[in-house]
Amino acid sequence: MKTELRTVGFKPGERNVFFHILTACNLSCSHCYINPEQHGTQTLSKEQIVKWLVLFVDPDKDTNVIFLGGEPTMHPDLAYAVKAAKEAGFFVTVDSNGYLFHDLLKRSSPKYLDFLSFSLDGPDSLINDPIRGEGVFDTCVGNIKEAVRQGYNVSVIYTVSSRNIDHLERMVPLLKKLKVKKFFIQVVGLRGTSLQSADPGKIQVSREQWLEVVPEVARSAAENGIHVTYPTVFLPPGEEFQCAGNVAENFFIFPNGRVYQCPLCEDHPIHSYQIENDKLIKTKGLTEDRFFQLEIEEGCVMNKLLQPDTIEYDQKGHPLYKISCCLLKQERG
Ligand code: SF4
Ligand code: SF4
Repeated sequence: MKTELRTVGFKPGERNVFFHILTACNLSCSHCYINPEQHGTQTLSKEQIVKWLVLFVDPDKDTNVIFLGGEPTMHPDLAYAVKAAKEAGFFVTVDSNGYLFHDLLKRSSPKYLDFLSFSLDGPDSLINDPIRGEGVFDTCVGNIKEAVRQGYNVSVIYTVSSRNIDHLERMVPLLKKLKVKKFFIQVVGLRGTSLQSADPGKIQVSREQWLEVVPEVARSAAENGIHVTYPTVFLPPGEEFQCAGNVAENFFIFPNGRVYQCPLCEDHPIHSYQIENDKLIKTKGLTEDRFFQLEIEEGCVMNKLLQPDTIEYDQKGHPLYKISCCLLKQERG
């Protein structure tokens, strides 16, 4: 099957709301980005979830809402929230670690939940479980099968690091067998618990490794009928750099009321908005949007500040390539 590679520019009018409804989780993955000090430890009530969702309704725009945690299925009212979001006009996704607490499949329905996304970081338990926890692979795969059997659209998210990049290609036959429709490949970031590991830089992959492996696996998955999305990361020469904070609408909501526009900023109190008394308020002072306005040779400003080791320079001190916005994606399929 011939498939086409597309850079998914930031589409005018499209909005994404990444809604962390709690930060609690039953797992402790080695690359978890949740940072309770910065994101809170609260579990939002079902009333709060609906009031906060309403803040992001815009009838003139297509808005995706992605329910996240922690583990969002640990929230006893997730099925209620999913239905409320669908009825408010959102395209609704839940990102789960695979445990599907509170009988989500039975209590929700493909009528309300457009996509159910599962996280897997390896094609078998030998690769996945050292990263995500013992027994996680079997539980997750078992629930993927059950979700597909019940008629849900299923996607899988794989976070690429030096620990699993060599096994990415083996995901393709697994996903095909499981009848997964979409595959999201992400790159590990130096955030949350990744930063606390003994040598955080070692879990990142080099530019050569990324370019050698990821586009080829994406092509193979697309040829097998799976829609693939992966971050651009290294901007090809001549392609224009754009910061999503300036040209797109993405909102990352946390249970402590912080709302960020950029995921790389989430470990710092520089959020653009704060939800207070169920109202969305613009934050004053030094906020992330000040950084979005800076133009630098290296591309993404926050990447330069937080992960400077990802950039290589020539002898004159100019970067060999720009780092793209982490929200800019390539698509195949
Ligand atoms: S990465 Fe997700 S599943 Fe893993 S510990 Fe963090 S919140 Fe839980
Ligand atoms: S990742 Fe970089 S380019 Fe993208 S929104 Fe954040 S600061 Fe802007």
